[in-house]
Amino acid sequence: MFLSLRYSFTFLFTTLLLTLSSSSHIASKISISNHDIHSFTNAVRGNNITGISQFKRYLSRFGYIKNNDTFSDKFDSNFESAIIKYQRNLGLQVTGKLDSNTVSQMITPRCGVPDTTKTHHYHNHHQNHIHNKTNFVYFPGKPRWSRDMPMTLTYGFSSDYMIHNLSIQEIREAFKRAFSRWSSVIPVSFVESEDYGFADIKIGFYSGDHGDGEPFDGVLGVLAHSFSPEIGRLHLDAAETWAVDFGVTKSEVAIDLESVATHEIGHLLGLSHSSLKEAVMYPSLRPRDKRADLNIDDIKGVQSLYGSNPNFRSQWSSLESDISTNHGAKFGVDTYRFSMIASIIAIALYYI
Ligand SMILES: [Zn+2]
Ligand SMILES: [Zn+2]
Repeated sequence: MFLSLRYSFTFLFTTLLLTLSSSSHIASKISISNHDIHSFTNAVRGNNITGISQFKRYLSRFGYIKNNDTFSDKFDSNFESAIIKYQRNLGLQVTGKLDSNTVSQMITPRCGVPDTTKTHHYHNHHQNHIHNKTNFVYFPGKPRWSRDMPMTLTYGFSSDYMIHNLSIQEIREAFKRAFSRWSSVIPVSFVESEDYGFADIKIGFYSGDHGDGEPFDGVLGVLAHSFSPEIGRLHLDAAETWAVDFGVTKSEVAIDLESVATHEIGHLLGLSHSSLKEAVMYPSLRPRDKRADLNIDDIKGVQSLYGSNPNFRSQWSSLESDISTNHGAKFGVDTYRFSMIASIIAIALYYI
């Protein structure tokens, strides 16, 4: 049950907090100094370096290492394997080391969604996988909303769990745009409901421990998380400085609400993280960055779950025939299997 709960969870953008001081007791945040970075980047298997344990906790928190309350500072083979998986999932060069790109990725605000690793089945579609490389990933079991197509899903905002630096109208409009990006490519419509209690998708801003076993961790920690189909819960960390217009919100740690919303909706629909940096479903998002336009990878992923919106027209129209060829068998046959999930949370390593 615990595992299924973890699998059903998706966490959104986080940031890695780089501070010169203080030890962090939160597994989703890493605390290192500029001096430490050099020793970490040069570390190889067998080394013992103070601070390695926090990377283990971080990778464990998100599913790359089995949980262990007493993580050592030894750079052991399990740690190396975890780094390799992490690098693959994040589309980084696979070195098995805490190289600068890897540490930099951990320092970058990112999504905390459990990462799902896919591997190819060679006995199906063997003629296609070379020419049809994809980065998108489903959750284990490939869950999706199972209603008849075209379907309509309702969403509502919690009146009790809101933020106040944005108006409800700004929040509603940001989400409306985010939902419309997805509904324009699949035969799924989203309608805001006044009846939060009965909405298919429930949206709210929460602080710290909010009762679902995945507490938020403050500014630039985990930014948000949501659940895979058909749970329909989307939680954003109330501690973030959410923004809809960076011209208005000047904070250096401002996070674009629409980008995060679009990403989280992808999880609600059944997509896990993509390793393609340009995809909405890629887990990282820096403060003051915006990445809300669906990439072809996002579109291919969601259309393989729900089919194409009949009105969908784009420069990638040939994509539709690819999808119907490869995935048209009633969504039943997976081309991929999933071997693991990593939960990530973002850690924000930003400034000083
Ligand atoms: Zn995510
Ligand atoms: Zn939550």
